[in-house]
Amino acid sequence: MDHKYLNKMLSEMDKDLASKGMTRREAMKLAGLTGAGMLMGATNAQASEEETKKAPTSATGKIVIVGGGLAGMSTAKRLTNMLTNPDITVIEPEELSVSYQPGQTLVAGGIWDIDDIKYKRDDYVPDGVKIIKDKVIDFHPQAKELTTVNGTLVKYDYLILATGMHLDFERIKGLEAAGRAMSSGNNSRLLKAMGDDGVTSIYTAEGAEKTWVEMQKYIEKAKNVKKGDKKIQFLFTHPSTPIKCGGAPKKIMYLTNARLKEAGVRDNAELTFYPNGGAMFGVPEYHDAIVGQFEREGFKWHYRHNLVEIDKENKIATFDAKWQEKGPYDPIMRDFEVFSKHEKVRVPYDFIHITPDAVAPREVGESDLGSAKGWVPVNKETLQHIRYPEVFSLGDVAQVPMGNTGGSVRKQYKVLCDNLVAKMQGKKLEAKYAGYTVCPLITSIGTVMLAEFDWTVKPVPSFPLDPTVERWIFWLMKVYALKPMTMIGMLKTGQA
Ligand SMILES: Cc1cc2nc3c(=O)[nH]c(=O)nc-3n(C[C@H](O)[C@H](O)[C@H](O)COP(=O)(O)OP(=O)(O)OC[C@H]3O[C@@H](n4cnc5c(N)ncnc54)[C@H](O)[C@@H]3O)c2cc1C
Repeated sequence: MDHKYLNKMLSEMDKDLASKGMTRREAMKLAGLTGAGMLMGATNAQASEEETKKAPTSATGKIVIVGGGLAGMSTAKRLTNMLTNPDITVIEPEELSVSYQPGQTLVAGGIWDIDDIKYKRDDYVPDGVKIIKDKVIDFHPQAKELTTVNGTLVKYDYLILATGMHLDFERIKGLEAAGRAMSSGNNSRLLKAMGDDGVTSIYTAEGAEKTWVEMQKYIEKAKNVKKGDKKIQFLFTHPSTPIKCGGAPKKIMYLTNARLKEAGVRDNAELTFYPNGGAMFGVPEYHDAIVGQFEREGFKWHYRHNLVEIDKENKIATFDAKWQEKGPYDPIMRDFEVFSKHEKVRVPYDFIHITPDAVAPREVGESDLGSAKGWVPVNKETLQHIRYPEVFSLGDVAQVPMGNTGGSVRKQYKVLCDNLVAKMQGKKLEAKYAGYTVCPLITSIGTVMLAEFDWTVKPVPSFPLDPTVERWIFWLMKVYALKPMTMIGMLKTGQA
């Protein structure tokens, strides 16, 4: 953590709080207890009351969880609370699997250090849960068994798929050598492929650390821009697939903007956003708010641009740009025909932040447990597999049409545990995921717009406040409250 920055921010915040008649302790209480509790869908008091009401059950069966990241390990912990005699095995190859991915944005903005987000799998394996430190390579759902890379055959009565998503950097021409990456763990191949000249991505932990190094380099270059010189070009992309935390590609843009302003060189830089889609956010209220923020900050943006190539030598990013043209009148359909067009657009960059396509791990997508698109097809409310009733899935790999965030996992793991235990007891699956998710959209250092929504595609604010307004209290929550809530509330206790 940058302590100089932190102290400055805290003293500014104290002034701000004093003007509202509040101490920092009172504010932290609000952010850490009420705020985080409300994000869980209930106050902490209500949540623990609910916990104590549920006595553990004696249901039995061998449960195997593939993937011990946030979703898999939190689910393992919660199931140990719910079963008197749990038989749970987690299969997870990555030593740092429970690292705190939402903090990668803060690392890239120079607010946290990488050590603030690294957490070891072995410190989070719940008591009584077996761990296999290996990767599943083959699934045989008809036989209810699977095999790992090292050849171990594992049988199960119930299977939970929590493998997360892969980052498909190799799809981008010029980055083929990067292969596919995961957010946590060793991604040296990717870092090597990106090189050391302004190509960045916060989507891996080490990439986030490198983003901060590159950002500072180009802020320094902005300091040398003279009147009449070309401005330093900062580009930010958003791909064509579902991604982890839909707000992250914009958060890094806002943080770059904040750091340029802090250095007094914002006027020497141009910041441009290239999303593949045709809107800033799927919820109209948040879309409008973001467009307003972009206009206020002087950002440029071009919709329907998908990054397809990086020419590192000449520093050119190539996008596939799409648009529609009106054709001749069709008298049968009584409407004009519409033609879809596209062309390659070459854009010079100094610094580029890439958000890669996300795909399901091959071993899942190509097995009978995956859908045509690779994700695990589940009933979006019960999280039960649509073909194999003893299989459940949650988190980034589950085919649930809602944001891939820790916020979604926080709601899903409770539903999944309730339904799995019901299934083990031969009861009806009654718990339902209502589609809640949350994106704490960092808009500057010290402000966050808390975009909460669900299946209704409408804002569902936990607070009696306008959810489209950027607030310091949500920044406090992002920086101080959400990590303990995740690492302790979900992973260590299975209760948040
Ligand atoms: C830059 C960034 C910013 C984010 N910001 C936010 C935010 O502000 N708020 C928020 O709520 N969320 C945020 N998220 C998203 C959040 O971190 C993820 O949605 C969450 O981690 C998903 O949990 P998961 O368990 O599904 O996947 P992961 O935590 O990625 O875990 C999946 C695990 O499965 C393992 N695995 C994969 N394949 C196999 C296999 N074949 N065999 C065994 N194990 C396997 C992997 O090694 C991995 O450890 C952000 C993520 C990123 C990258």
